Amino acid sequence: MSETAFAAAFAAATALVRTTPVLHAFAPWPEDAPAASLPAQHAPAAEIVAAHDLPATPATAPLSEAVKRVAPHANWQQTYTVEEVGADFLNRYGWFELVGPTGHHHAEGVRAYIAYWGAGLTYDWHLHEAEELYFILAGEARFEAEGLPAQVLRAGDSRFHASSQPHAMQTEESGVLTLVLWRGGGLTDPARMGRA
Ligand code: ZN
Repeated sequence: MSETAFAAAFAAATALVRTTPVLHAFAPWPEDAPAASLPAQHAPAAEIVAAHDLPATPATAPLSEAVKRVAPHANWQQTYTVEEVGADFLNRYGWFELVGPTGHHHAEGVRAYIAYWGAGLTYDWHLHEAEELYFILAGEARFEAEGLPAQVLRAGDSRFHASSQPHAMQTEESGVLTLVLWRGGGLTDPARMGRA
């Protein structure tokens, strides 16, 4: 059951990348990435994502819907501790690696995460060596990065973060469901809080 759901999510992601220039320009998409049998790992966000009704676009809706069906089976992760971000953040945030070295589909050289934040959360300044492309699947959030004007992104919008460029994000009335791509050095290193 869950293997079929992950295959459907991978197929939806593949279709989205093929038809979205900013996504397929970012990194070669591993179209043949084989399924990996990752165990389900729970986070409170799993149930929220499984039931979300955040607005998508015709292009992003297939992946947004496929994510709802894999959410109960996903290997959910949370990069930060309660001391760093607080309990409310951890109760309404989470991510899983759909494709990558440790993902539900195995590939080297790129990571594709599905990440979710509930409404009214502040994701404080953080950074990582890997280059990053955020692509909004559903909902909206306000993005900040050093050297860039702040911008509200909605479904279908994207934003690039250079290697070690500090960035932050806030959600207001709406939560946000994102596809996040990583490439380059530090691909398997986690993000860390801070601006330097
Ligand atoms: Zn980032």
